Amino acid sequence: MTQAPATSPVSDPTALPTIGHVIAGESDAGTDAGRLAPVYNPATGQQTAQLALADAQLVDRAVSTAAEAQRAWCSTGLAKRSQIMFTLRQILQERRGELAALITAEHGKVLSDADGEITRGLENVDFCAGLMHHLKGEYAEQVAGGLDVHQVRQPLGVVACITPFNFPAMVPLWMITTAIAAGNAVILKPSERDPSAAVFLAQAFKDAGVPDGILNVVHGDKAAVDALLDHQGISAVSFVGSTPIAKYIYSRSAEQGKRVQALGGAKNHMVVMPDADLDSAADAAVSAAYGSAGERCMAVSVAVAVGDVADELVEKIRSRAQSLTVGDGTDAGSEMGPLITAEALQRVRGYVAGAAEEGADVVVDGRDWSFEGEGYFIGPTLLDRVKPGMSVYDDEIFGPVLSVVRVETYDEAVELINANRYANGTAIFTRDGKTAREFEFDIEVGMVGINVPIPVPVGAFSFGGWKDSLFGDTHMYGPEAFNFYTRRKVVTRRWPEPSESQVSLGFPTH
Ligand code: NAD
Repeated sequence: MTQAPATSPVSDPTALPTIGHVIAGESDAGTDAGRLAPVYNPATGQQTAQLALADAQLVDRAVSTAAEAQRAWCSTGLAKRSQIMFTLRQILQERRGELAALITAEHGKVLSDADGEITRGLENVDFCAGLMHHLKGEYAEQVAGGLDVHQVRQPLGVVACITPFNFPAMVPLWMITTAIAAGNAVILKPSERDPSAAVFLAQAFKDAGVPDGILNVVHGDKAAVDALLDHQGISAVSFVGSTPIAKYIYSRSAEQGKRVQALGGAKNHMVVMPDADLDSAADAAVSAAYGSAGERCMAVSVAVAVGDVADELVEKIRSRAQSLTVGDGTDAGSEMGPLITAEALQRVRGYVAGAAEEGADVVVDGRDWSFEGEGYFIGPTLLDRVKPGMSVYDDEIFGPVLSVVRVETYDEAVELINANRYANGTAIFTRDGKTAREFEFDIEVGMVGINVPIPVPVGAFSFGGWKDSLFGDTHMYGPEAFNFYTRRKVVTRRWPEPSESQVSLGFPTH
C-alpha cells in the first residue's frame, strides 16, 4: 500500500501566477495585504498558481459594482439578451477545448469528462436563449367588469452564486446563465480548489456582450462567503456543495431575509432487480460509481442487489473495475483521474480501511493500486456486504468507492433508500415495467432513473434532490430557476368612467 502523498510545497510561490477576482469586467488582484491560497494540479500534486482570497471590503466593492450595472441591465431588451445567449453558446462551443483543459488541470477529471460537463452546462445556455418565453407573464382579461389582471416577472437585483469544486463549469453555468438572462447581476464565488474555469466563464460572458459588472467573480473561502450572506445588497443566494455547508448557507441567508436555494451532498443507490440484465447493470454501476473518481453528486455509491443477483453482480463489477485505466486526466487513455486534494485522498483511504474493520468485504482495494509521482490517486474500490451503520454506508465518501448492500426483496430495497438522509438521485435496473412504475411511485428521492444510472434531468427540466440533499424548495436550472431568479408582480387594472366613481368602504369584491 502506498502512503498518501503530501501536498508539495513550492519553494517560491510568488513566482507562480496569481489568479485574481473579476470585478467590472477587469481582473482584480485584491489588496496587497490580502490572503492567498495555493491551487494544485491534482494529477501531479504540484502547486500551479496562487489564488487571491476576498475579504468583506472586496465583496462590498463587487456588490456595489454589480448593483450599479444591474440597473441598466434589467432594462436591456429581452431580444438583445437572447442574442447574447446565442453568442455565448457559440463562444463556449468554439473555446470548449481550452475550458476543458483548465478544468482537468485544476480538478483532475479526464478531458472527455470535462468536455461532458461543458455540454451539460451548455444545455442551460440553450434553455436561457429562449428567455423571452420563460420571462413572459400571465394575463387574465375581464376578471370582473372592466377589470384585467396581469403578472410580470422582474429580476431580484444582485444574486450570489456559490459553487463546489466538482463541476467548476457546469454548476456555475446552471446558476449564472439563468440569473443573468432574467436581468440580475451576479457575484460568483467558485470553489477555491479549481477557480480558473470561473474566470474563463467571466471572459466568455463579457465577449458575448454581457456588460461589465453583471458577472463578477470573487474568490475566497468562508470569509468571502459570510460577507456575501450578510451583505444587504445581495437579494438571493444559490449554493451547491456539501450538506453541512448547504444547511449553514440556508439558515444564515434566511436569517438575513434572502431568497435561498442550497443543494447538498448525496448517497445515490442503484437497485438491481433479479430480472435485470446483469452485464448492462454492471456497466452502468461501474460508469456511475467511478466516473470522475466518484466526485459527482449523482455518482452511484451504493448498489443494492436484490435476491440472488449479488454474487454474479459483484463478480461482473469486480472484473470491470479492475480493468479501468487510472491516470493523469490529460492522457487520452485515462478513464479515471485523481481526487481533488491530498486531504480527500487521505479521507477516502480512511473509509476503505474503516470498512474492512467494520466487517465489509473489500473485493477491490483501490489503495493497492500503485501510481508514480505525487498525484492524489487511488484506484476504484468495491466493497461487498456493506450495511447501514457502517461509516462507509452512512457517510458521503465522494471518491471511487462502490458499496454493495444485499437485500432479499424489492420492499427491503425501497425501505433502505427511503431511510437514508440523502435523497438526490437513485436508479432501478429491471426489465419489468410494473416494478419500475412502482419504484417511481414509492421512492422518496428527487431524481429517479429507470435503467439510467445518472438521471441528471435535461435542461428543460430542473435539477434537485429531496431531504438533506436540498435546503429550500427551488431546484436548479430549467423552469424553476427562472422562478428563483425573478419575483412576480401582479397588476390589477381598470379604466373606469369617472361618472361611475363612488366612495365605498366595503372590502373590494368583484
Ligand atoms: P463544499 O461544501 O466544501 O464547498 C462548496 C462551496 O462552499 C465552495 O465554494 C466553498 O468555498 C464554500 N465553503 C466551504 N466551506 C465553507 C464554510 N465553512 N463556510 C462558507 N462557505 C464554505 O463542497 P465541495 O467539496 O466543493 O463539493 C463537493 C460537495 O458538493 C459534495 O458533498 C457533493 O455531493 C456536493 N455537490 C452537490 C451537488 C448537488 O447538486 N446536490 C452538485 C455538486 C456537488
